[in-house]
This record gives sequence, structure tokens and C-alpha cells, in this order.
Amino acid sequence: MAHPSRRIAYIYSSDYASIASRLPSNLERSNFQLFTVVYAPQDFLKRVEQEGLSDGEDEEGDHQDGGEHRNIKEDRLEEYGLRYDCPVFEGIADYAELVAGSSMEAATLLSDDAFDMVVHWDGGRHHAKKDMAAGFCIVNDIVLGIMELQRTYERVVYLDLDVHHGDGVENAFQFTDKVLTVSVHHYAQGFYPGTGSGNPTSSRTKAAVNIPLKGGLSDTTLCKIFDDMIEPLFKSFDPEAIVLQCGVDGMAGDPLGKWNLSLQSYVDCLKKVMAWKKPLMVLGGGGYKNTSTARCYALLTSVALGREISEEIPEHEFFEDYKPDFMLQIDPGRQTDENTDDYMEQVRELVEAQTDFLESK
Ligand SMILES: [Zn+2]
Repeated sequence: MAHPSRRIAYIYSSDYASIASRLPSNLERSNFQLFTVVYAPQDFLKRVEQEGLSDGEDEEGDHQDGGEHRNIKEDRLEEYGLRYDCPVFEGIADYAELVAGSSMEAATLLSDDAFDMVVHWDGGRHHAKKDMAAGFCIVNDIVLGIMELQRTYERVVYLDLDVHHGDGVENAFQFTDKVLTVSVHHYAQGFYPGTGSGNPTSSRTKAAVNIPLKGGLSDTTLCKIFDDMIEPLFKSFDPEAIVLQCGVDGMAGDPLGKWNLSLQSYVDCLKKVMAWKKPLMVLGGGGYKNTSTARCYALLTSVALGREISEEIPEHEFFEDYKPDFMLQIDPGRQTDENTDDYMEQVRELVEAQTDFLESK
């Protein structure tokens, strides 16, 4: 079904993709995403080229991170989270600027009513803190994007489908009830970042709902969670705009191996969020198998446009990586869904306890 009246923008430039492809946790992933651009139908897609990329010629090394950071003491890097899982890489300053700037641009396009929906697959870096990189996230573009949205839309719902808890976004809005953060994530001892248990806190200043899940999450369970828990939250909170983080590291076949979702799960969630008919920013997130992530984001882009794309992967630069079948769909996983009916009943109660504040308004 086409959505001719929905105005959709896609934030992209080849320069941005090549810099984002240097992110050590997701090497080459953004270049794989070029596939979305060659594959997805273009006629309804308004491409917004991100500008402002420094060419490095006239700034006398201001952005030459590779050299600059060698002068910074190691403990200073640690203070800003730029070690271990977030090491400094060549072009990191440009990368941070582009990721943050692109989500802010997406928000501006929505706030100005220039578009109804803006897609930014390199965004969605939900772990970064105000002054610190964390969990493969150098800068929290989501928080900056939501703040920009709030210039026009005060009440925002943030929905995070990544397999990890959206801790950075929840923390940023902990002193306001104008931004409802909803995170669906794997929760287990030792699993990053270790927050998002869903146990209600004494603080009632924040509007946060956490849905902690066990391993092997299936399409069926996620669908029920959406219909039974997320949809009512949307209705009660009644936001003016939505930000959807589509981390796809819960997909079957992702190296993290925690959940068992198919492409269809993400398609269904996107369709349901689109049916809310609010200004919508769609962001990426985790996803550690480049061919699966590119498949999913190409399909989601086509869904956004209401257009079908071929099941056969088209020839392009990374075509050979899609062997042996060269098809769009991914192999279904065989994990057992540990989110049993009994456990889901506990989760439902947990969600209800966290949403008292909505009913008391
Ligand atoms: Zn993740």
C-alpha cells in the first residue's frame, strides 16, 4: 500500500557513509547501506545530503584526530569514554558532527513540517552520555534530535527496539515527564549496560517504561508486547511526535545471538508506529552483521515508502557478500523463546507498575 501523502526524507551522503563506516564497532556497515539507496525505490524518497563535512585541507589539522589524540593523555580519553569499546579512530570528530547533525537535521525537517517522516539509519546511538562516549556510541544523536523536536513538539515518545537498554536517552530525560522513553531490551546479569530492569524507582519525575526480556525473543512475543503494552502507552501519553530507534541487533543471526527476530518483526513495528500518524524520526542503532542490517534497513525504507522491493538482492558493490542465496530474507533462527507466558505476565505487571504516573495525570 502506497502512502502518497506521507512526505519522507532520507538522510544520506556517500561521504557520511564512508566516515560512519570507520566506526570500529560497525566497520563498513554504512557502506553496505548504500545498498538501500540503490535498491529502494527512489521516486518518493527525498534525499537530504548532510553538509559541513570538513575536507581537511584548510583547517590545518583541526580535525586530524589520529594525530591530535596522541597528545591527549590516556586517562583523559578514559574520562570521556574514548577507550575500550569506543576507541578514537581517524575522522571521529567528523563522525560525531555528522551523526549528531543528521539527527538534528531530521528533527528540524519534522519541526518545520517539511516532512512527515525522516529516516536516518546511521543515527540511533542510544548509549552515549552528555559528556561521555559509551557502548559503541560516540555522541547521543537521539537526545539532541529529541531536544530539537521539542522546539515544536513538546511531548515526544521515544521507542527503542535495540536488544540493549536505551540508557543514555532515558538518563537525559530523567527530569521531565514530557518525553516518554520506552525501551524493549534483553535484560540479564552481565549483559550491557545492566540497566532497565523495569523496577519502578522512587522518582516520579521521569516518564520511562522499561520492558526487560529474556533470550530468544520471537516475532510473536514482540508483536504481543507491542499490541498489549506499547500501543496503550502511546494512547495514554498522546505524544505530538515519535522517535523510533531500530537497532537490529536482536535479529536472528546477529553475532550477539540474544534474540530471534526476523525482518518481519521490524517491518510490523514500523508499520504500527507509522499508523500512529505523528511526525516520525526513524533511526538505526545496533546490528553487527552488515548484510542482515542492510537487508533490514532496505526493507524498512521500502515499507516507509509503501513500495515493494524485489526478493532478489540486486547487483551492487557488495553483492558477493550475500551468497549463497542472494535473497532479501534472512534464515530464521532456532532459538527457544525464553519469554514464556508466565514470564510475560510478570513483565505485564512490571509495565503496569511503571505506568501509574500516566493514569494519575
Ligand atoms: Zn544494541
